[in-house]
Amino acid sequence: MAIKYNVCLDCGSNKSAKIIYGMPTHEVKPKVERGDIILGGCSLPETHKDYQCKSCGFEWSKEEAVDDAYRKITSIKANIGGFFGNSYEIEWRISTGEVTHLYWEISREEDPVTFNTTYHNAHYLDSIKSINLLRWKRDYQPEEMVLDGTSWSVEIEKGDKVISKHGCNAYPKTWEQFCELMEEVSGKTFN
Ligand SMILES: [Zn+2]
Repeated sequence: MAIKYNVCLDCGSNKSAKIIYGMPTHEVKPKVERGDIILGGCSLPETHKDYQCKSCGFEWSKEEAVDDAYRKITSIKANIGGFFGNSYEIEWRISTGEVTHLYWEISREEDPVTFNTTYHNAHYLDSIKSINLLRWKRDYQPEEMVLDGTSWSVEIEKGDKVISKHGCNAYPKTWEQFCELMEEVSGKTFN
């Protein structure tokens, strides 16, 4: 899972208690006694927290955990290509704004070009979030076998991990949106 909601956003401990709201059910009681569940009260406050760290006491919401996960993405590398056609690769190092673009055909390969993106979007986090990038499945395949088609892959660097997604002739729902973002960032064709 690319987003671990229950890991403390402050100290990184994975020992946390879930805060629940509303009338507690009978089954909840032993968990409350063990300290795995905290009762947050009968009504849901306007701004509420969903977890409390058992080590440091920090509290956070599910939404904050999602934001934090996306904020930790330092680079996105994507490529797409047909077996006999053109292939494109774009690497976007979000922290420095550097973009490397690579294009090749079956008989010709261009040298990679690195430049600084002119993409200035204060809301880039919202863009990536609305693409749901971290929730994509690992692998997309069509129902029926296709021999020569278009394949793609995306590598997401997040903290010290690299998360890989790929597919062949099948795409996540937000694929078009993702291609548009990569084109906006690089100023180059990507689809
Ligand atoms: Zn903590």
